[in-house]
Amino acid sequence: MSHILLLNCGSSSIKYQLLDPEVGAPEAVGLVERIGLEVGTITHEVGDNEFRESRPFADHTEGVAAVVKMFQDHGPSLDDVVAVGHRTVHGGSTFVESTLVDAGVIAKLEELSDLAPLHNPPGLAGIRAAQEVLPDVPHVAIFDTAFFSTLPAEAYTYAIDQEVAKRLGIRKYGFHGTSHSYVSKEAAKFLDRPIEETKIIVCHLGNGASISAVDGGVAIETSMGLTPLQGLVMGTRSGDVDPGLHKYLVGAAGMTIDEVDTLLNKKSGMAGLCGHTDMRDVKTAIDEGDEQTQLALDVYVHRLVGYIGSYIAHLGGVDALVFTAGIGENAAHVRGPVIRKLKALGFELDEDANATRAKQAREISTPESKVRVLVIPTNEELAMAQETLAVISK
Ligand code: ADP
Repeated sequence: MSHILLLNCGSSSIKYQLLDPEVGAPEAVGLVERIGLEVGTITHEVGDNEFRESRPFADHTEGVAAVVKMFQDHGPSLDDVVAVGHRTVHGGSTFVESTLVDAGVIAKLEELSDLAPLHNPPGLAGIRAAQEVLPDVPHVAIFDTAFFSTLPAEAYTYAIDQEVAKRLGIRKYGFHGTSHSYVSKEAAKFLDRPIEETKIIVCHLGNGASISAVDGGVAIETSMGLTPLQGLVMGTRSGDVDPGLHKYLVGAAGMTIDEVDTLLNKKSGMAGLCGHTDMRDVKTAIDEGDEQTQLALDVYVHRLVGYIGSYIAHLGGVDALVFTAGIGENAAHVRGPVIRKLKALGFELDEDANATRAKQAREISTPESKVRVLVIPTNEELAMAQETLAVISK
């Protein structure tokens, strides 16, 4: 047995799982919430049992200590843990693969915090805290950006002053890489073809959403950019807008640049368009005849269809279009209009298969469809555990 403890640290939270990558299903999952606030909570689930405690967690060190204490009090034992895997949002150009953490890596991650001020500092705090509490096992950083380090220069270069771009590391990095990598591999397995011979488009549609073009297992395009704000319409993020919008809002509307950033990250996307971030609520509102919510879904679908068409062109054809994550796996009312709009490109939707709910990987196109359309559940935790094991086995 080689158990991996996975930590995913946000600014005020720590999500964790204990799992054996050979087995797959987690043996324990948990969440520390409200770190740094007056009262926090930790929830620890082992099988059907849930253990919950409320008390203050001053910082990530106290949060990680509470995680370890939960394992000590309620099991399973952490004695079999061979490594800790840390989800790390931004690897910049420095980290192109999962990496064993040492002092040099920590120093480089500190430098990268400027690129991802919201995401990287909590990740670093989690790494430091976990190293303190679990000093005898290796720690591995897994980067959301790593899978996209293969993007060709013409895909990752922004058409701005290159002196500025190079000096400040401004380029497309891409995010959700662990999911895009895992799901494209699972898709090749589903197609029963070597991944080297496949052209696959992956739509990762969760609260955050991104799409990637994967040619022979190698990512060649993706929709998120320097930050996770670029690209598709998301739960609360705008995705693509005219870059001139910022000046307009700051100048004509008198907003500060921080207010613009909050508007685009927190008050836009589906939330801004119709007030609903959850696609289940979107469906209910549309079924009740709410036209504004219908428009919101239309905008969401329009953007996605545009990216899919563009990625088919970049790939020079496509074998499979794959939907994954919360919306991609569950929302037939999102997948349906997307595939119907792609009819001219040879996509044929199997309406019954699309409407049928299932947890396993499945096909929702008809046998006549020129492109196979798949729904494949993502499993970022399993993928991260596999990565962690691979790094310590090198
Ligand atoms: P993230 O990991 O980015 O927080 P998820 O991949 O868990 O997001 O996706 C969450 C979203 O999935 C929800 O906001 C909701 O829109 C959508 N979702 C989840 N279940 C369903 C469902 N049964 N039907 C439609 N949409 C769903």
